[in-house]
Amino acid sequence: MNYSIEPLGIIESPYREKFAIPRQPGLVNSARGAIVMHTPYSQPELFRGIENYTHLWLQFVFHQNVEKGWQPLVRPPRLGGNKKMGVFATRSTFRPNGLGLSVVQLLDVRHTKQETRLEIAGLDLLHGTPIIDIKPYIPYADALPHASAGIAQEPPKNALQVEFTEAAQLTLAHYKSSYPYLQPLIIEVLQQDPRPAYKAQAESDRIYGMVLYDFNIKWQVQGACCHVLSVQPV
Ligand code: SAM
Repeated sequence: MNYSIEPLGIIESPYREKFAIPRQPGLVNSARGAIVMHTPYSQPELFRGIENYTHLWLQFVFHQNVEKGWQPLVRPPRLGGNKKMGVFATRSTFRPNGLGLSVVQLLDVRHTKQETRLEIAGLDLLHGTPIIDIKPYIPYADALPHASAGIAQEPPKNALQVEFTEAAQLTLAHYKSSYPYLQPLIIEVLQQDPRPAYKAQAESDRIYGMVLYDFNIKWQVQGACCHVLSVQPV
C-alpha cells in the first residue's frame, strides 16, 4: 500500500544552508522561525487550542536530501564520522522515506486572511522545509528522562568561545534593530563548533563561511576560540 503526503506548510528559518544547522532542535534557542500555513490548512479553526501548548512536534521532509537516496549504514557525526551505524539507529537525514521529527517551542500564533503563522524557537530546520504534520508535545508521554539514548545521551558540549572582530561588530550593530537575534544566533551556532569532526583538526587555519538570514558570516577557529571575521549582507 502506498500513501501520498502533501506539504501542509513551509518553514521560515534563519538557516539558509545545511552547514552549521544544529544537529537537533533546542540546542540553539536564538534560532527563531515560523511555520507558515497556507490554504486550505491555514483556517484558524485548525489551530484552536494550540496556544495552550508550549511545544510542538513537527514532522517534515528532508527536502534537500530526498533525491540523494539513502544507505543502510551511516556515519554519525557523534562518532567523528569514523564508525558506521544502521540508519534506523540514527537521526540521519538520509532515510528511506526522507522524513524528520523535531520538537520546537511555540511562541505565538498569528492569523491573516492569507496565512497562519506559528512563530517558533529552537528549530533545526532549513529555510523552505516542507511541514507534513504538527502535533502538540505532551510531556507525560513524550518526555522520558530515564531513557537510554545510545551515543546521544548528553547534548553536545559547547566547544568554542566566540569573539567578533571590530568590523563584524559594526555590521551587527548596524542591523541590530532589524535582526535582533542575529548576534546571539551566531554565538550559539558557533559555540557548538559546526566544523565536520574529521576536518576540525586537519584544517585548523581554514576560513569557514555560513549563511544566516541574509548574511554571509566568515569565521576561523584558533584553539578553543572562534573568531567571527566578517558579517556581510548577501
Ligand atoms: N530533529 C530532526 C530529526 O531527528 O529527525 C532532524 C535531525 S537532523 C540530524 C538535523 C540536520 O538536518 C541539520 O543539522 C541540518 O543539516 C539537516 N536539515 C535540516 N533541514 C533539512 C532539510 N529540509 N533538508 C535536508 N537536511 C536538513
